[in-house]
Amino acid sequence: MHDPNCVFCKIIAGAIPCAKVFESENVLAFLDIEPIEKGHVLVIPKRHWPCIMDVPVAAAEDIECAEEVMYLVRVVAKALCRDFATGVNVLQANGPCAGQTVPHLHFHVVPRIGCDPVQPVWRSGHGQYASDAERAGYATRIAAAVATIIKEEDLIG
Ligand SMILES: [Zn+2]
Repeated sequence: MHDPNCVFCKIIAGAIPCAKVFESENVLAFLDIEPIEKGHVLVIPKRHWPCIMDVPVAAAEDIECAEEVMYLVRVVAKALCRDFATGVNVLQANGPCAGQTVPHLHFHVVPRIGCDPVQPVWRSGHGQYASDAERAGYATRIAAAVATIIKEEDLIG
C-alpha cells in the first residue's frame, strides 16, 4: 500500500512533517510546500496510487477511499472560500508530461483571491480543432474508449 521511496507516503507515515489540514483513516490534506498561493492545499489518498488511472475499482475499500478523496477536495474548496478565497482552482496532474512531480495521486486545491496574478495552467483554445469533423472524430474515439472502460469495470451506466 505504501512506497518507501515516495515522499507523500513518508508524510503519511509521519517520517516527514507537514502542515496538516485534515486526516482520516483514508485521506490526508496538507499545505503544499511550494504554494501557488498562500493556503494551497494538497489532498491525497493514504493508498499509494501513482496517478488517477491507477485507482483500483474492484474492492469496496478502494472505492470508498477514492470517494473520500473527492469529498475532501470539495470540503477544502468550500473551506477556503468560507475563509478568505473568492474561488479555487482544482488541479490534478498525471505523468511527467503533464507536470506531475510526485507519483502519488494528489489534488491541488488552490485558493484564488479577487483578480490575483496567478494564471491558470491551461491555455484555452490552444488545441483548437481544424474542423467540425475533426472535433466529432475526437468525441467519437474518446466516447468509444469511455464506453469500453465502463463496460470492463462494470460500475456505472
Ligand atoms: Zn506514495
